[in-house]
Amino acid sequence: MQKLIEKIKAAGHVAAFTGAGVSTLSGIPDFRGPQGLYKNPDAERIFDIDWFRRDPSIYYRGCQELVYGLRAYTPGPVHQALARLQAVGKCDGIVTQNIDMLHQKAGSSPVYEIHGSPILHHCPRCGDEKTFEEVCAMLELSEVAWCEKCGRPHAYKPDITFFGEMLPEAAFSGAIRLAEHADLLLVLGSSLTVSPANAIPPLTLRAGGEIVIVNAQPTHLDDSASLCYKDLAAFAEAVLAAFPAP
Ligand SMILES: [Zn+2]
Repeated sequence: MQKLIEKIKAAGHVAAFTGAGVSTLSGIPDFRGPQGLYKNPDAERIFDIDWFRRDPSIYYRGCQELVYGLRAYTPGPVHQALARLQAVGKCDGIVTQNIDMLHQKAGSSPVYEIHGSPILHHCPRCGDEKTFEEVCAMLELSEVAWCEKCGRPHAYKPDITFFGEMLPEAAFSGAIRLAEHADLLLVLGSSLTVSPANAIPPLTLRAGGEIVIVNAQPTHLDDSASLCYKDLAAFAEAVLAAFPAP
């Protein structure tokens, strides 16, 4: 990893793009993996906006663990390594496909969550806002977080991007700016198979920057990357060793 460390040290603007592999090191199952979403018989309905409008209890039942269980997890080594890079002035921000809020928990900012996030929930009818923690507290008492203003059948919807919804515009335009501005984009734990998220790393290349990929499996951008590695834990270890806390 010494070549990578040298590149980070030399780069003026470093940014990161992260996917599910970063969070599996925290013990969070990959949503698309066998332990994730697709094991659930309601899988296709859980994150479908039409089903949510029809019956929000499908989402809330399906996500007791998948989303509201996320509060039990803590940042893993890659989240910590990226927070460290930022603390030493070597990470301008993070684009993430994950919805687990662990980059924020590790102290990183800004974090552009291009598939949305449950960090805030809104009532689709009146717009009333609740934080993740407030909704978790509501779910201690009720299976569904019904809107406190509208009442049943109107429930708070997480700001996760559901099937049938537009991607979050502000997060996506922030991600584009960050990627285009980066001299070096660290692409971590993403197989780059999900569109349009996978359109972000090529923006760095097109703007004249470099990308480095760390992912267990090969990706279609490996040939365009300056360096490729497989081991995310080794990446985190190398970064934390090379950049001591300020
Ligand atoms: Zn409402």
